[in-house]
Amino acid sequence: MNPLQALEPYIDDIYTCNRTRCGFCREECPVYRVEGYETYSCRGKMLVARGLLEGTLQPDEEMARMADECLLCGYCAARCALHNVEIITALREALAEAGFQAPKHRANADQILTEGYLFPRTSAIRREGTTPLYLGCLYQSKPAEVKTILSVLEKAGFDPLIADEVCCGYVVEATGDAEGFARAQERFRQVYAPYADQEILTLCPTCTITLRDKYGLRVKPAIVAVAERIGDLRLEPVAMTATYHDPCHLGRMLGVFEEPREIIRALGVHLVEMEHNRTFSTCCGGGGGVTAVNPKLSAEIAKNRVRDALAVGAETIITVCPTCTPTLLRGAGRLANEVDKFVDVLDLWQLLDKALAR
Ligand code: SF4
Ligand code: SF4
Repeated sequence: MNPLQALEPYIDDIYTCNRTRCGFCREECPVYRVEGYETYSCRGKMLVARGLLEGTLQPDEEMARMADECLLCGYCAARCALHNVEIITALREALAEAGFQAPKHRANADQILTEGYLFPRTSAIRREGTTPLYLGCLYQSKPAEVKTILSVLEKAGFDPLIADEVCCGYVVEATGDAEGFARAQERFRQVYAPYADQEILTLCPTCTITLRDKYGLRVKPAIVAVAERIGDLRLEPVAMTATYHDPCHLGRMLGVFEEPREIIRALGVHLVEMEHNRTFSTCCGGGGGVTAVNPKLSAEIAKNRVRDALAVGAETIITVCPTCTPTLLRGAGRLANEVDKFVDVLDLWQLLDKALAR
């Protein structure tokens, strides 16, 4: 295949950006905020894409590193009218097709394509029930967290059914392997066929958006389902001042902003908002496979997000994503070494479980 074929559907967008060069996407791009280097912003990537299309630039490792060190967080898309995340994904695909892809990304995609899941697990988690609940690879590797979530869902009156699962394939596509993603999709469709016509509850925001947009499935984040019943639950108040971090896929991309906040308020938490919230929330540092290719960069981005929480006097960051929670916790730990103050990070499921257990 012509390596540049992936970029061709976006030629108009790429030239629109190159004519405009407004830069609205740049300052708050979490990667630019750390690197301070234009190429890492979306505007810089649009310039690189144009150079590739016109032949003034040739694919190389440095270019691939720039594309691989994007969080695919969509902050730039919230500031722009173009297909920013799709273009950056296409850029990764073009570079991978030309032979430049981070070995770690290739290894992760291969792991999914051969095993059907990304993260190591002791055994597959299953549960008999009536409402399909798709865990996804990351939760399949975290049985303790799943136990907590199931306990909350049961107390809220749900009877989750956890069936045989394979990976939704998000990572395969995001790391630039369109052909591999088609194979991953085929396998997912076969395995999950019995539930394709039902509403599926989901936990991981990234799986949720993939099941909705790439498979056309009817999905509902389980936290939204709980928010709908929050008034019926007997909750013990939690005394703390906290902020809520909107996971990129759950918030900006799925539009779930208020439901987690409603739960947090129902728990009696004093909620303060960070400067970047809701549509304009910034990534925790764990998106786009950046943790795999450059953990130091991911940690610096996480530290910046924790700084945002400190700036508004939050003692705790609450979030609801299996990627955001450990990434922010890593950032909080590292920042504590510099500012001598530790901001705790809690998953909303954890907090709900405690409030329901008392
Ligand atoms: S990507 Fe969009 S916001 Fe950024 S410089 Fe180009 S046109 Fe402006
Ligand atoms: S997707 Fe996020 S990290 Fe990537 S260029 Fe856009 S704002 Fe920056």
